[in-house]
Formats: sequence, structure tokens, C-alpha cells
Amino acid sequence: MSTVTNRSVYATVRQQFDKAADLMNLDPPIRKILSKTTNEIVVNFPVKMDNGNIEMFTGYRVQHNNVLGPYKGGLRYHPSVDIDEVRALATWMTWKCAIAGLPLGGAKGGIQIDPRKYSQSEIERITRRFTFALGSNIGPEYDIPAPDVNTNAQIMAWILDTYLQMMPPQERNRSTHVVTGKPIQSGGSVGREKATGQGVVYVIEMWAQDNAVDLSEITYCVQGFGNVGSWAARLMKMHGARLVAVEDATGAIHNPEGIDPDDLTAYVQEYGGLAGYPQGQPVDHPTFLSTTADIFVPAALENQITAQTAPLLNVRLVVEGANGPTDIEGDAILQQRGIELLPDILCNAGGVIVSYFEWLQNKRSEYWDLDEVDHKLHKKMRAAYASVRDTAHEYSTDLRTAAYIVALTRLEKVYKERGIFP
Ligand code: GLU
Repeated sequence: MSTVTNRSVYATVRQQFDKAADLMNLDPPIRKILSKTTNEIVVNFPVKMDNGNIEMFTGYRVQHNNVLGPYKGGLRYHPSVDIDEVRALATWMTWKCAIAGLPLGGAKGGIQIDPRKYSQSEIERITRRFTFALGSNIGPEYDIPAPDVNTNAQIMAWILDTYLQMMPPQERNRSTHVVTGKPIQSGGSVGREKATGQGVVYVIEMWAQDNAVDLSEITYCVQGFGNVGSWAARLMKMHGARLVAVEDATGAIHNPEGIDPDDLTAYVQEYGGLAGYPQGQPVDHPTFLSTTADIFVPAALENQITAQTAPLLNVRLVVEGANGPTDIEGDAILQQRGIELLPDILCNAGGVIVSYFEWLQNKRSEYWDLDEVDHKLHKKMRAAYASVRDTAHEYSTDLRTAAYIVALTRLEKVYKERGIFP
């Protein structure tokens, strides 16, 4: 898989924002406010490695906006993490929470590391020391991290434990909602692990219904086979849709007869990537992108669909499971080619929606069952999808710009009601 290009993802966000703000005539002062992040925290911290050496790490947390509620968003561990990327991801979280109708704002963070180079106990110490360095910049009613690229429930458990150690004992049990995406026994929610993939599939179902498409007859490709890509594929299997090509950081495979998502998930868990998977033909990156299918689901990193790669796609629909997989030129080329696109801030909102449910359960000391979580997730995704689709019709614009207009309209309303201090 190609790595993230040098293109500034924050520049992409700003251009997407400007297009929507122009079209909807966003109130100029509110436009100024929303075009900036609120807080940007950069921490450098030392960690002892297994061999006794000390290494320095750089961690980030950018808080874009909290007018709708506490800052919310994941933490990613990846070499591409820098201030530009985290700013963009934090801003997308604000739009995403607003579209989903959640009382939450937007934030994102991460550490610039390649986690594959560290042992499990090193990752634990890096996570704990990062949490300690963030200190009161996060908090259960202030800023609530969650999993993202290369972070998972175990890492959230370490963040929870470290954060609680920093609190007076009497306050610990009412602070478990400082982080979401936790293991179930540590206060996590059922359905959170699959939630982003589940949301992606709900959106595909709604699109299929609108376009009279029978999902049992379609083929699709997935880029990225981490949490989002693998769960989306496993849930698409229930519709009988055929997965014909998959790519991850270790390579790409193609099989026109179909790849079994459950079997591939088991293989990837065992071998750490899909390279060498026997039920598919290895293919290179351009061949993967050119695969003929109905749907392409990018579920990896940013800047994958660009001026260079958008002409290669051979699908009718792109469903963005990843954040920011399409840059401005890529978007324009897809539009020219008549390839429909369902945008990230709508499609991948399932993760943060179930994070919100986890947060609520923790606050109320409740455990909901999977039916309840899935039912409520479906309802929120349906409402978000309908408002984005209807706004696209109303403004005769693309679905990404429509999604921005939905978010910005909600934010504008709150700013107008509350006014600007002092
Ligand atoms: N990292 C996920 C996202 O990009 C989930 C964030 C959350 O649950 O707070 O939406």
C-alpha cells in the first residue's frame, strides 16, 4: 500500500470546509472560529526500553471544537502522525459528531511511532507515559480519547488505569468514561469493536436501498484490513456480497471468485498481515486499485485516492471507511468520472456513535446488550444518512459538501444561540 503522500491533510480539510461554507453562506464570524483549532498539545516524553535505554517520544492531542460537548476522538500510533495530520483528524471529528447528532466535540491525538518496532511491554510504558504527560488535558467530561489506527481496547485499558492512578481514590469509579473503546470487562460497550465497520455497512445498505441495488449480487474491494476494513467485510458477508480484492500494509490480493472475510481475518491475526494468504493472487498496488468491482472501501490512511490513483478505480461507488482517504484532486476526478462517493464523516461515524453509547453507559453504571447498541446505532446512522442525502438534493451538491453543510448548520445554530463571549 502506498504510504501517505506529503500533501497536507489539513489543507484538504480547509478546502472542503471553504467549499461548504461558501455554498451555505456560513456566518463569517462563525466561519473564522471553526477554521481554527482550539487547543494544540504537543508533549515530548521519555520511556525506558526493554534493553534499559531511554527513548524520547512525541505525542499530540489537538482539540478542535467543544461547543456541542466534550472533545472526542481517537489516538493513533503511526509514523505519519504529526501536527498537520492530527489537526485535520480533530477537525473531521467535530464535523462527524455534529452530523451524527452527538453532544460531543472534535479532537484527535497520537504518537509518531511505528508500533511494530516495539514490544508489548514497551507499548504499554509508552502509552502510560503519554497518558501521564497529557495529564488533565484529557478527562471524562472534557476530552475523551478512543482507539484509532494501531490502537485497540488493551491500549485504552492502560490509558484508563494510568488516568485513574492520577486521581484521588474517591473519584476513580466515576471517571471510567475518560476513554472509550475499552475492553468490555473494564467498562467497554458490546458492539464497540465492530461499530465503525457496522456503520459503514449500514450506510451501504441505505445507499443500496436508494439505488435499488441487491447487495447479494455486488462485488467490492477493501483497502486496509484493520478494525474497520475487516469488520466491514465480515458484515458484508452476511449480505452475500463478494470481496474480490484486499490490500494492507503487507501487500494486496485478488480473487474474482471471492475472498472469505472471516478466514482472512483469522489469517491476518495469526501472521500480522495478508501477505502470503493462499486464497488469492498477489497483485501490485496499481492492479489492486484497478480491480473491477461495484464498491471500493478505503479503510486505511489518508491521501489514497489522488490525481494519480483516482483514474485507476473501476467501481461505481467509493465508501470512505478511513478518514480522509480522498484528496481534493481525487475527489474532483471521481466526480468527473461519475463515481459516487459516500464521505468519511458520514460513513465512519459508527465508531464514535458507539463510543458515545459507552460513555453514557459508564456515566449511568449500565451495561446495554448488543441488540440495544445495534438498534440505536442503526437509528443514528439512518438519521445522519438521510440528512446528508436530503441536503445534497437541496443544495444540488456532492455528498461530502452536503455532510459539511449538515455539520456546519448545527454548529452555526449553537453559536448563534450562545453568542461569542464576552
Ligand atoms: N477513531 C475513530 C474515528 O475516527 C473513533 C473515535 C471515537 O470513538 O472517539 O472516528
